[in-house]
Amino acid sequence: MSTTTTIRPTDLRSLRDAVLDTAGTIGIAGAGTAADWAGPLAPVDAVLDTTGLTGVITHNPGDMTVSVRSGTPLRQLQDELAPHGQHVSFDAARIADGATVGGLVATADAGPAALVFGSLRDLVIGVTIVLADGTVARSGGHVIKNVAGYDLTKLLHGSHGTLGVLAEVVLRLHPVPERAATLAIHCSLEEAAEHAATVLGGPYEPAAMEWTSDGVLLIRLEGTADALDARVQRLRTALGTGELLDLQAHSDQGADRDRTEQGLPENLGTGPEPGDVPPAERAAPPSDERPVRRIGTDESAVRRDEPWERYASLVRGAPEFATLRIGVRPSLLPAVLADLPTESVTAGLGTGVATVALPPAAVAAAHARVHAAGGTSVLRSRPAGAEVPAWGPPPSAIAVLRAVKAELDPQGRFGPGRFDPWM
Ligand SMILES: Cc1cc2nc3c(=O)[nH]c(=O)nc-3n(C[C@H](O)[C@H](O)[C@H](O)COP(=O)(O)OP(=O)(O)OC[C@H]3O[C@@H](n4cnc5c(N)ncnc54)[C@H](O)[C@@H]3O)c2cc1C
Repeated sequence: MSTTTTIRPTDLRSLRDAVLDTAGTIGIAGAGTAADWAGPLAPVDAVLDTTGLTGVITHNPGDMTVSVRSGTPLRQLQDELAPHGQHVSFDAARIADGATVGGLVATADAGPAALVFGSLRDLVIGVTIVLADGTVARSGGHVIKNVAGYDLTKLLHGSHGTLGVLAEVVLRLHPVPERAATLAIHCSLEEAAEHAATVLGGPYEPAAMEWTSDGVLLIRLEGTADALDARVQRLRTALGTGELLDLQAHSDQGADRDRTEQGLPENLGTGPEPGDVPPAERAAPPSDERPVRRIGTDESAVRRDEPWERYASLVRGAPEFATLRIGVRPSLLPAVLADLPTESVTAGLGTGVATVALPPAAVAAAHARVHAAGGTSVLRSRPAGAEVPAWGPPPSAIAVLRAVKAELDPQGRFGPGRFDPWM
């Protein structure tokens, strides 16, 4: 029986040496926040720990780009960028758990901000990769429109550590919005889909829009301090006041400070419970013009906010259930979700991406349902010891996937097991 050794390189050269000097199979490990996503890693000869590969290599504030070593926790990178008023417009739940930049790319993770900014696939403009034979491959760079960087980056996005080791990643940046506010509406998924159609069909420009199976639709707006209140009010008017809830009953110092400075009232009421208001009335114009309490004054305040934290905890799943990530055409998402025996759901009604918790025995049928809708699904986590299929029916491009694997890692050294039974 082979013994697994752990190697922790601290720069590109020692990473390359580690790959060259290791005989046999290699599991790539970042911070471990998604260690059980996709198929379970088969026993490997060595684990390559990327958490020693940290730090910003170059930050070009004027060009709004940053290159960073792949083991850097994104949370740490955001902290370093904050004094410049810039950030990576990416808010996957596990960033708070210490997820690394490389791990986030390799798992194709994303958060609510994907509605506007897409996933990391859309924000990565260059990568440096170490392949199984020790080749150091670079693509892209600091130029946002660099066609050469396009394909290799996208190949590694969602590769779950099976094609190569991401060593360095170049990311495009965006300005941190001056202010953010969230409207929360208690409603069923069906009602949320109607609201989503109104929001997406109008000039409201939501920064994020997610429904959770707690029965809440969260709509985040971002913008300038001057304009945001009016935009929030316009949206609230379009949706009707009856369902708008103030979820800021809990303490949030940033929001409280902002509210006090703006002279907004302390107690705005909580609105009716789900089902209190018939659909016809929901569409009616608001009967009063109560100001909507601000939930956050900046992105960090929003991140602290309880509804979004609750959202993130649902995305993380629960140990007794299997967690499945689903992507279908947004208009099909409510029907697909309605057919699944879900214990909990977060649903991006504008992105078509959902995370659901299911009994492990229901996962195979769930994969098949998503596939039948033309979507994709992948297992994120499963109860300890449970055998749960990570992937559903193979995609039509399976031959291409196998050819790419055979080209980049012909001996199957990286991440054995992750894509079973596809390859
Ligand atoms: C505006 C908008 C419109 C959209 N319209 C559509 C649409 O018309 N049709 C539609 O289907 N979706 C649509 N979506 C949803 C989104 O495009 C899908 O969720 C996405 O295509 C799923 O692929 P992904 O791998 O990027 O998913 P992710 O959630 O980013 O990835 C999930 C995991 O699945 C893996 N994976 C998924 N498919 C494969 C595969 N074939 N081979 C290997 N690994 C795989 C990824 O590697 C990753 O690990 C839309 C989204 C938005 C924002």
